[in-house]
Amino acid sequence: MVIGQSGAGLALALAGIVAWQFWQAYRIGQVVRGEQSPSSLPRQGAFGGLARDILLHTRQQQQRAARSHAALAGFRRTAMEFPDPLVLIDKTDSRVRWFNRAAGRLLGLSRQNDIGSPLQALNAHAQATVWLAEPGQDALELQSPADPALRLTLRLIPFSAEQNLLVGEDITRITRLEQVRRDFVANVSHELRTPLTVIHGYLDMLSPEDYPELAPILPEMRSQSQRMTRIVEDLLTISRLEAQQTLDEERVAMVPMLDSLQREACALSRNQHRIVHEDSLGLDLLGSPPDLHSAFSNLVSNAVRYTPAGGTITIRLERHGDGARLAVSDTGHGIPAAHLPRLAERFYRVSASRSRERGGTGLGLSIVKHVLHLHGARLTIESDVGRGSTFSCQFDACRLIPRTDD
Ligand code: ADP
Repeated sequence: MVIGQSGAGLALALAGIVAWQFWQAYRIGQVVRGEQSPSSLPRQGAFGGLARDILLHTRQQQQRAARSHAALAGFRRTAMEFPDPLVLIDKTDSRVRWFNRAAGRLLGLSRQNDIGSPLQALNAHAQATVWLAEPGQDALELQSPADPALRLTLRLIPFSAEQNLLVGEDITRITRLEQVRRDFVANVSHELRTPLTVIHGYLDMLSPEDYPELAPILPEMRSQSQRMTRIVEDLLTISRLEAQQTLDEERVAMVPMLDSLQREACALSRNQHRIVHEDSLGLDLLGSPPDLHSAFSNLVSNAVRYTPAGGTITIRLERHGDGARLAVSDTGHGIPAAHLPRLAERFYRVSASRSRERGGTGLGLSIVKHVLHLHGARLTIESDVGRGSTFSCQFDACRLIPRTDD
C-alpha cells in the first residue's frame, strides 16, 4: 500500500517533470518562430544551455540581417543618387522596372507614367527596337528626350536572366568640346588657305633665270608650299566630312570609277609599277561619288607611294559576304602589325620621313575612314612586312545597286 502510494507520487512527479520539459521546449519553439521575445527563454535546467545557444544564434542572425539590410539600403541610395542615368528594363518587352534620379531627369522618366510600361525615351530613334533587343552593341547616341540641348550615350548591359540595365552618360560637354576643336581646325585651315595661295603664287612667279641666287632653294620652297596647301585642303575635307550628318546618295558608277583610279595610279606611278584592276562584282554602289572617289584614290595613291618601283598594285571590286568590297593591294613595304590599329588617326605615320619624302600629309587614311563612316562602311587593313598590304573598304548589301546601260 505504502509502495503503491509512493509509486503513484513518483509517477506524478515524473509526469510533472516531463510536462515541464515539454512546456520549456514549447516556449523555445515560440521564440524560434518569432512568437515570443528571446527574454522569455528558460535560463536554468536541461533546456537552459540550448536556450542560451538559440538566443546567441538569434541575436547573430538579427545583426547579420540588419547589416545586410543597411548595405542593401546603401547600395539602393547610391544607385538612386548615381550621377549617370540607370534604368532596369525587362528583356522581353523593355518594360521599365526601376530607374534612378538621373534617368528621371535626363530621359524624362516619371514613376507614374513609366514604371511597368515599355521604355518610351528611345521612341524617336529609328533603330531603338533592334538596339534594345540585343545587349552589348555599340553605344547609342541621342538627344535627351527631356532637354534637346543635352546629348547622351546609352549602353545596354545584360543584368539578370530577365532584365537588362540601361546605363547612360551625359556627353554634352564632350560634344561641345569636340565641336570647338572641329571649328578651330576648320577656321585655322580656312584662314591659312588665302596666305598660302598668295605665297604659292609669288613662288611661281620667281624664275631661277631672273633670280639665280634663289635657284638652289626655289624647288624646295615650292614643294613645301605645295605640301602645306595639301595639308590645309585635307584638313578642310576632314572638317567638312565630320560636320556632315547625312549623305546625298546617288548611283556611284563603278566601271568609270575603276578606270579613273587606274589612270590616276598610272600617272602617279609614271609607269614604274604594274597596275591592274578586276571587277567581279558587276554592281554599282549607292553613295556620294566625289567622296568615295576621294577615299579610293587615297588608298590607290598610298599603294603607289609605298611600293618600290617594279611592284604591282591591284584594285579589286568583289563580293564580300552579303555586301561588297573595294580592295587595293600592293606588293610594297608592308606595315608592322603594332601600327595597324592607329593607322587611320590624323598625322599617324609609320615613318614620318618616308611619308614626307613621298609627299604625304598624314591625313589620307583619316579621310578614308570618315568617308566610309558616312557610308556605314568599314576599312580593314591586312599587311605583311616586306610583302605588301591590302586596304579594303567593306560595304553592306544595302549599298549595292544593279548597273544600268548608260
Ligand atoms: P600619308 O599622307 O602619310 O600617306 P595616310 O593617312 O594616307 O598618310 O597614311 C598613314 C600612314 O600609313 C602612312 O604614313 C604610311 O606610313 C602608312 N601607309 C598607308 N598606306 C600604306 C601602304 N599601302 N603601304 C605601307 N604603308 C602605308
